[in-house]
Amino acid sequence: MLNENLWYPTDKIFINGKWKDCYSEKTLFLENPSNGEIIAKITDSDERDVDEAVKSASNALRSSWGNLSATERGRLLFKLSELVKNRLDNLAFIEALDVGKPLEQAKNDAVALARYFEFYGGACDKIMGETIPYLKDYTVYTLREPHGVTGHIIPWNYPMQIIGRTLGASLAMGNACVLKPSEEACLTALAIGELANEAGFPEGSINIIPGLGEKAGASLISHPDIAHISFTGSVEIGKTIQSEAAKNLVPVTLELGGKSPQIVFEDANIDKALPFLINAGIQNAGQTCSASSRILVSKKIYSEVVEKMSSSYSKLKVGQALEDKDLGPVISNRQKQVIQNYLNYSKDLECFAEGHFNRDLPKKGHYVLPKLYGDVKYSHKLAQEEIFGPIQVIIPFEDEEDAIKIANSTKYGLVASIWTLDGARQMRVAKAIKSGQVFINNYGAGGGVELPFGGSGYSGHGREKGFEALYGFSTLKNNCRNA
Ligand code: ADP
Repeated sequence: MLNENLWYPTDKIFINGKWKDCYSEKTLFLENPSNGEIIAKITDSDERDVDEAVKSASNALRSSWGNLSATERGRLLFKLSELVKNRLDNLAFIEALDVGKPLEQAKNDAVALARYFEFYGGACDKIMGETIPYLKDYTVYTLREPHGVTGHIIPWNYPMQIIGRTLGASLAMGNACVLKPSEEACLTALAIGELANEAGFPEGSINIIPGLGEKAGASLISHPDIAHISFTGSVEIGKTIQSEAAKNLVPVTLELGGKSPQIVFEDANIDKALPFLINAGIQNAGQTCSASSRILVSKKIYSEVVEKMSSSYSKLKVGQALEDKDLGPVISNRQKQVIQNYLNYSKDLECFAEGHFNRDLPKKGHYVLPKLYGDVKYSHKLAQEEIFGPIQVIIPFEDEEDAIKIANSTKYGLVASIWTLDGARQMRVAKAIKSGQVFINNYGAGGGVELPFGGSGYSGHGREKGFEALYGFSTLKNNCRNA
């Protein structure tokens, strides 16, 4: 079924505008998380492929790609966006099978991919420097310049969205890119190669090399000609990447995990909040760095929120990706095991509600029920560590001060939301919370092409998305001229 939908090779690497075998000729296998079947063979790239990809990107910077004007780069990104739009259903179908996410969620990701290329296409020729008043007879101005060859290491949970934001911003600034997608889901990443050719991107401006993290990924970050690394993934690998990159003093943007809170005050519009409280936790089966896994609720409305959340939770359905229920499977048996291990720590907690499995789910699929735990202490392991699964905890709080203390009690700081109609409280709490993004009376997990996104602490550093990302993908030159 998948093969009929693939119009490009999946067992090749994409270098210098061409599909080729990887040097080792070794292959890896991609599994459909919904039923455990092997759906595609991919390459196991190594340092030779990485070196060729980086060289091809360097050549493109010195010639065709590097010679384009900002407006011409923008037109290519617009074209790429159009080509993605023409293939929305096709790309969503591929992503749903590869990642296991419900089809409708995969469609949203395809729309976001197109929108990122459109947004950054439009930004290309609007990035300006400034003039600086200085001594008499001097003219001083700044220029935003590309880093050079940028390395992009991405995970399996949102391939299309992350490709859009990271390649879009980097290409807009005039860098040439080498993308190492995840060995667990990389089919839509490979599609970008074919679409880039169709759009007319110069050879070498975009290169794609699937392979293992410890081989292809590690070779990419230690390559001497890589000038910037953008990484989205786990905290553990983020630390490795930062320390490896430090050996060549290469700047990194790290978008890691989260334990993002939603704070529901006593004057909140609970019915408006309800779908956000739940969807932000179960979207993509909770495998979202910006998932909201902690729900902090004022004791004054605690029982009402618990009752409403529990009632909605018990209606949640888990099904195969193409059945398009509330949740699909998790990516792998390994991930299911990680979640299971966390649930072993839940024995002292009360599970207030859980979802249901759809009928006749394939035995070899990796299914996990969404679970809602209540009356959880903020210091509990399940309230402190990122689980990366559909598990949410409700934590009661006394007052504003207590809510802020609990919200800021983890090592993470990625996303938060505040539910209250009190304008002054909205401002106070938004200011006090340690978080890269704060939503007020909404929650934007996964959304917001235009909105700067990133965290602090264990959530990483640097910003992706929005105009802000363009600064991270460029370097500032100060020119000082004496008349
Ligand atoms: P996740 O478990 O969420 O996929 P990881 O951090 O394990 O998160 O993986 C994210 C990306 O990092 C993947 O593309 C993976 O191949 C890559 N990766 C894993 N280990 C390394 C490493 N040592 N060096 C570079 N990249 C790596």
